[in-house]
Amino acid sequence: MRILISGAAGFLGSHLCDRLILEGHDVVGMDNFVTGSQDNIAHLMGNEHFVFYKHDISNYIFVPGKLDAVLHFASPASPNPASPTAYFNLPIQTMKAGALGTHNTLGLAKANHARFLLASTSEIYGDPIEHPQKETYAGNVDITGPRAVYDEAKRFAEALTLAYHRQHGVDTRIVRIFNTYGPRMDLEDGRALPNMLKQALLGQPLTVYGDGCQTRSFCYVDDLVDGIVRLLYSDEHMPVNVGNPVEMTILQFAQAINDVTNNQAGITYIDARSSRDPQRRQPDITRAQSLLGWEPKIQLQEGLVRTLPYFKRKLNLS
Ligand code: UDP
Repeated sequence: MRILISGAAGFLGSHLCDRLILEGHDVVGMDNFVTGSQDNIAHLMGNEHFVFYKHDISNYIFVPGKLDAVLHFASPASPNPASPTAYFNLPIQTMKAGALGTHNTLGLAKANHARFLLASTSEIYGDPIEHPQKETYAGNVDITGPRAVYDEAKRFAEALTLAYHRQHGVDTRIVRIFNTYGPRMDLEDGRALPNMLKQALLGQPLTVYGDGCQTRSFCYVDDLVDGIVRLLYSDEHMPVNVGNPVEMTILQFAQAINDVTNNQAGITYIDARSSRDPQRRQPDITRAQSLLGWEPKIQLQEGLVRTLPYFKRKLNLS
């Protein structure tokens, strides 16, 4: 297939480029580098199975040649409102990428009679009351809260994707991605893993927001990409959760990072009362298991070990 990936220079987008080229496809990468990084795709430049266009998908997209699939992964990552280090705060670009970007990429898929896959998110569940989260759960999003720009844009994107499927017969897929980590994450985006792994490698205490009893379930990027590719090849049109169901507190997560890096500096607690941090998050992956035969294989300890060399390189420690 000839596959367009929006957000190709991002963390997930760039791993998807690699995997799909490995599978024998031709990839058309697109990114405007607002949050993506040229470093993430530098190794693909000159590859005969990869072409790249610098473009903002909030504007009309023109790509020469026929496309067989369009994967919409472009969006600024949602900055954690509690994070003093998240340097990106792009509320309007976030809404435009989710709304206009989804409209344009769907239009591109429709014009090409191409398959379409939307990168959605566990954030559409908001601060969930149902636990673990099944795809049937409608969510608990605070419309006026600090995370709404990301959450509501992705909820809109899902609704628009299904509308194109139902009205225009576009062959769509929706993946709801839970917390994911691995090489090529942006060290400055304020997320738990980049913050903490950086702090640990520099021998600093890890910043835990609130009391650290909030939970997340972290998936290693290779597992996640495998789930997404299986969904792309499937015939499933309704949303599918893809993430690691091993739930842990952020304190346990911090401890695992201090252990793997042998960091002796411990933990420091940061007040996060205004961040509206979801208190629990864990995917129910029953649908991914039964529809795609997928479940994650890489445990946290191993995933962290695989992630370390990238962080060391970025911090000039190796
Ligand atoms: N977190 C933390 N310290 C940090 C960064 C994040 O304790 O330096 C917490 C954050 O409050 C949240 C969890 O880690 O409870 C995951 O945060 P992240 O931003 O990675 O993802 P999301 O909140 O979108 O799940």
